Amino acid sequence: MGLVTLPAGIEPEARHRACWYGRRTPHLPTELSIHTIEDGELLYCAHPMLFPIVGYDFATRNCESCDYFKARRSTPAR
Ligand code: SF4
Repeated sequence: MGLVTLPAGIEPEARHRACWYGRRTPHLPTELSIHTIEDGELLYCAHPMLFPIVGYDFATRNCESCDYFKARRSTPAR
């Protein structure tokens, strides 16, 4: 197992994309407020400490300094 870090100051959307818990759905809420939409999809966090609380009312600004970040595998496991 390796330790993966991302450079400081990486944009929140990029950190969300790189995180194992970062998810997206094509189902958009009827009222947009704090949400983050990228390429027509709603970004959200599936982390079990966050999703039950915030659900889809999620903004990627939370990713910026999130301690739950877990890097995705860049290549499939063999
Ligand atoms: S809030 Fe944290 S755990 Fe959730 S997607 Fe962003 S970096 Fe990952």
